[in-house]
Amino acid sequence: MNIILAENAGFCFGVRRALEMAEAATRDHDRVYSLGPLIHNPQAVARLAEQGLVVCEDPQELPPGSVAMIRAHGAGPATYELAAARQVTLLDATCPFVRRVHEKAAEFVRQGYQVLVLGDPNHPEAQGIVAHTGGQATIVQAPEDLETLQLAPRVAVVSQTTQTYEALQALEAALRPRVQELEVANTVCDATTKRQAASLELAQRVPAMVVVGGYHSANTRRLAEICARTGTPTYHVETAAELQAEWFTEVETVGVTAGASTPEDAIAEVIAWLGERRGHE
Ligand code: SF4
Repeated sequence: MNIILAENAGFCFGVRRALEMAEAATRDHDRVYSLGPLIHNPQAVARLAEQGLVVCEDPQELPPGSVAMIRAHGAGPATYELAAARQVTLLDATCPFVRRVHEKAAEFVRQGYQVLVLGDPNHPEAQGIVAHTGGQATIVQAPEDLETLQLAPRVAVVSQTTQTYEALQALEAALRPRVQELEVANTVCDATTKRQAASLELAQRVPAMVVVGGYHSANTRRLAEICARTGTPTYHVETAAELQAEWFTEVETVGVTAGASTPEDAIAEVIAWLGERRGHE
């Protein structure tokens, strides 16, 4: 069996930066709190916990005087205010590309636009973007959501960094005839776009795809959707232990891609497992 690894698979700049910050922080402090799992990968989070990075879901629970990290997804202004009030030392790993979305969305609000965020309402990045507009922006997942929304004459759109450019274009096309003025900021991050393009290209030329990454990772799920949409059988796994031999019966070549929060060892284990199948063909 041939194995082809997609270009740009694995950690993106923002996740790598957050992990490096966490590793440095846990060397300097016995205990560091992460406001939510640092990355959407349970295996990596478990490893970080062994180093002293403790997940704290609610900033209200941060002990006064503690050290806490804001992850690459960012956080709303209330988190910064709460940390300051409790003398919590904040290590801010907000990805610069996410910060750019915060700034763009806030600027649109200042300019008087109704702001829509293309994203997942349950995702902390999308929630953080809304928080930076003072709660004035609305999250939409798809053009269908517009049916139940009262639209202002002037509308501006930003997107969660892990959306697809195509989804942003579809929302733009649906909005254009309904509003007088429309501004769209393409805030899908470059790392996401490159990973999606490479995965799509690979999925189109192999008979089976494996997408490695956390089930809660928005960008990994998106990669799995993009690959599956090509019609190529696509298997999203967190670890090599989930792979099943029957998926690859009579398959000569397998494509492998991985989300921006997937550790290199998880990818290597999948590749090693597939490599071993060679002997079973
Ligand atoms: S996917 Fe993009 S925006 Fe998100 S952390 Fe990585 S580089 Fe930053």
